[in-house]
Amino acid sequence: MTVVYFVIPCYNEEEVLPETIRRLTEKLTVMIEDGLADDSSRMLFVDDGSKDRTWELIEQFSSENKYVGGVKLSRNRGHQNALLAGLMTAKGKCDCAISLDADLQDDIGVIDEFVRKYEDGCEVVYGVRSSRDKDTAFKRGTAQGYYKFMAALGVDIVYNHADYRLMGKRALDALAEYKEVNLFLRGIVPLIGFRSDYVYYERSERFAGESKYPLKKMLKFAVDGITSFSVKPLKIISNVGIISCLLSVIFFVYALISFFSGSSVAGWASIMCSIWFLGGMQMLCIGIVGTYVGKIYSESKHRPRFIIDQTIIRDE
Ligand code: UDP
Ligand code: MG
Repeated sequence: MTVVYFVIPCYNEEEVLPETIRRLTEKLTVMIEDGLADDSSRMLFVDDGSKDRTWELIEQFSSENKYVGGVKLSRNRGHQNALLAGLMTAKGKCDCAISLDADLQDDIGVIDEFVRKYEDGCEVVYGVRSSRDKDTAFKRGTAQGYYKFMAALGVDIVYNHADYRLMGKRALDALAEYKEVNLFLRGIVPLIGFRSDYVYYERSERFAGESKYPLKKMLKFAVDGITSFSVKPLKIISNVGIISCLLSVIFFVYALISFFSGSSVAGWASIMCSIWFLGGMQMLCIGIVGTYVGKIYSESKHRPRFIIDQTIIRDE
């Protein structure tokens, strides 16, 4: 039977933990009774250097409830790193791992569907929000704009999918090959490939406590997502440089005409031409340097160049 690990990053979540553990235990017990999960399935809580009683609670619950497991990070490393720590701990112990937030905003009712898709051969199952009417207009607007912007920059991410997903053993092994430090998991997972599917769900509000993702962290996360997956901004610099150089030719002609028709002040034409031409050249050169920096950047990430799904070799 399928060994399922729930991986739950927690940062200062003492207010929600008892209820989260209660609901997830109930869920897991039903899954085990229904034969959907093995009895060795676990909930793995990752304490991301919390300053409150989160870790004490995890310790206490794990002594009473065999399904509760914990990992404590030495300090706060952020949601993505905490999640990775949990997934890498689960790797090798489970058949598949499901990542979810401690506040259970993501509907745990669809977990059965996740596991069934895994049993049907999907290695990655993405939880996708079917609507965003629970969000504030600001969050909805910025989030959706962001997904579109990422797509325009050529980054392959799943629209309206956050970090609620199932990953099978093989996908976890592949994830371990990505050595980058600036983690943006929702960008990496689609790069892994394998058969995948989507499960749609409604997202509810946090039932207690407050968001651990203030605007500042969210902005950093958004910038990380772009700069870790796209070198297009560097290409844009080159293109602007080329356009400025081309414009300088037009200015050159315009300045010459003004100069000979006597309608310009002395010195204006030469300054005008130099500004456009030199500005354009500089921008173009920065863009060229940027292209190399972009290459160094992608090399330095040591990403795997391929991940094999299947191999067939007959000995005959
Ligand atoms: N989280 C974490 N480390 C952090 C910030 C957040 O592990 O530095 C966890 C948090 O405990 C929660 C999840 O990340 O389980 C998502 O955070 P939150 O629900 O506050 O974000 P929101 O839903 O408001 O975007
Ligand atoms: Mg939340």
